[in-house]
Amino acid sequence: MLIKNVILDGAKKDVRCTHAFVSEVANELLAHEGERVIQANGGELLPGLHDHHMHFFATAALQRSVDCGVSSAPTATGQLHNAESLSHMLANSSGEGWLRGVNYHESIAGDLDRWQLDALVSDRPVRIQHRSGKLWTLNSLAVEALDLTAHKELAGIELDDRGIPTGRLFRLDAWLREKWGQQDPLDVSVFSRQMASFGITGFTDTSVTNTAATVRQFRQLCDEGEILQHAYLMGDDSLDFGHLKILLDEDNLPPLNELEARIRRAREKERGIAFHCVTHIELLFAIAALNSCADLDPQIQFADRIEHGAMIFDDVLPMLRALNLSVITQPRFLYERGPQYQQNLTEHELAHLYRHRTLLDAGIKVGLSSDSPYGPLNPWQVMQSSVARRTAGGVVVGARDCVSPEQALAGYLSSVNAPGGVVRRIAVGEPADMCLLTRPWSDVKNDLSAVLVSHTVVAGEVIYSRIED
Ligand SMILES: [Zn+2]
Repeated sequence: MLIKNVILDGAKKDVRCTHAFVSEVANELLAHEGERVIQANGGELLPGLHDHHMHFFATAALQRSVDCGVSSAPTATGQLHNAESLSHMLANSSGEGWLRGVNYHESIAGDLDRWQLDALVSDRPVRIQHRSGKLWTLNSLAVEALDLTAHKELAGIELDDRGIPTGRLFRLDAWLREKWGQQDPLDVSVFSRQMASFGITGFTDTSVTNTAATVRQFRQLCDEGEILQHAYLMGDDSLDFGHLKILLDEDNLPPLNELEARIRRAREKERGIAFHCVTHIELLFAIAALNSCADLDPQIQFADRIEHGAMIFDDVLPMLRALNLSVITQPRFLYERGPQYQQNLTEHELAHLYRHRTLLDAGIKVGLSSDSPYGPLNPWQVMQSSVARRTAGGVVVGARDCVSPEQALAGYLSSVNAPGGVVRRIAVGEPADMCLLTRPWSDVKNDLSAVLVSHTVVAGEVIYSRIED
């Protein structure tokens, strides 16, 4: 494949890919007979983007879920959240088969059970997740489809005083996932193509629930061409490779010796450690746990990571550096949740929120990511948020942490194993994972959120093309 007339590292070039690699870069290359030629018309050619922290299946599922927390149908009384608007949304959902709702709260239409849901939708199986994540409510078709009556003994399936399942299921996600996997397979290919349209050629799924079975599922979906990107997983203690994901919750921290034992077992498998740390206390605890295992060699190949690092105070910086920890941050939350932060955090906390520039200046590696579905997937919006650090209300938060457009881009261009490390390049012998923009970088760098991707290439194959060649 030949890509003609790109801007690469500031100069006009032609680039050839052979198999999965870049094979030639020159001022002018002539097409071979029968070779596919892409006319770039002066668009910037970049290495493909890697989203260093996201949740693939949860995002794919959200794409076809009804958000019960917001109404698309204001009623005559002006109320946005009520049974009538919920009924309207569910009844007007496109598609057939299972219908999935998320983000439900009883302030909308009271406590739901199967019979109340039947009154809203009775022609297809429906499942609705409570905002807390603890409870799913099913209508009668869904109760029958999952044969709940045959599983009445399972703790978590609520029964009425006649012993009939009410359709309310508490904390049964693992069991439900298995059942739904057979009944309601997720079409992930649409979502993977959407990622490709942003120039994403790889991602790291950081879900704490990832097991060996999830790894097999991803492999199969990649082999079948349903997932077009390079997919990397971290996960629980059962995995033999990839980072061990450890969720820390400041209100419920584990005994330090238990955490130390988990780290030691992971180190025996040559795994890196990825700590979910949002608060200062969580970050200090992660650092203490890693320090208590300092007698073991950390993984050179898979460096340890701090996921989010939402709150990093200056006294922690030398410790992060000493442990060679990368911070995987999500500056887009400043935009999405900015007004909430402004209300709930002190000035001092706001000044240390989702830091970027000052971490780089302190010699700490920073990888960028979406945390999709909790933040928007679009990497160009994420980058723009690290440049501008504006809330949805237009207020700049922590101005000294604004980065240059090039620094923001670098957050997506580092390799999977070294987020925020060396930026990948397009050069002879490098993997042909690329993102071709419609315009040169110099034209788009002042508003990254408006970037348009022309073509996305993974392993020498075009996985996305804006206009059919
Ligand atoms: Zn996450």
